[in-house]
Amino acid sequence: MLQKSYTVDFLSKKRVQNQGEIQMFYVEDDHEAIIQPRIWECVQLEAQRRKEYLEEHGTNSYSHRPETNPFASRIVCGCCNKVFARKGWRSSTGVDRKVWQCSERYKVKGVLGCGNRHVEEETLRKAYLLAWNALIENKDSFLERWQEQIQGENLLEGYRAGRFIEYTEGAEPLTEMDTNFMLKTLDYIKVFGDGKLVVVFLDGTEIECKNEEE
Ligand SMILES: [Zn+2]
Repeated sequence: MLQKSYTVDFLSKKRVQNQGEIQMFYVEDDHEAIIQPRIWECVQLEAQRRKEYLEEHGTNSYSHRPETNPFASRIVCGCCNKVFARKGWRSSTGVDRKVWQCSERYKVKGVLGCGNRHVEEETLRKAYLLAWNALIENKDSFLERWQEQIQGENLLEGYRAGRFIEYTEGAEPLTEMDTNFMLKTLDYIKVFGDGKLVVVFLDGTEIECKNEEE
């Protein structure tokens, strides 16, 4: 149990003794327990969530070099539910482009596995920006759910909902990619064969984008 109210006289810097509360602190908690129990439980729930995510999508690393490859393990196949992998392609005009394709496509050498189409990295970036900006624009319609989640039993959900209220409050649309922010908000992007992309955020919001260019 953490001290709920604890008064400090800021002028004299003297602690105002409150025996009852200081007592509670020592009785309830080992003095080495620095992390608040709620945060500790959130961390456990997040670890479990990631473990299940890796199993479900057939990958072994949740966040691999996020600074150079922020989409790693976050692009999911709409056909087989496994993760996409990044490939560098040199086009006929000699321009390097980054392209993502299902990791099940050529799992057995020379044999075509999953038949889902590839997607350009630039398209994924655009989809994230588009979806995030749509989320900001429609935040009022998500607010009720976020508030319910904060009151709900799942501490991790409540934590995420709180963050999303914070991130969207008075937020301006993103005009360019912010990798750190993406890592804090994006769960995954699901790629379908017909050019449809579904951007799933960590609070559970799903936003569908249609890729018109391909
Ligand atoms: Zn696939």
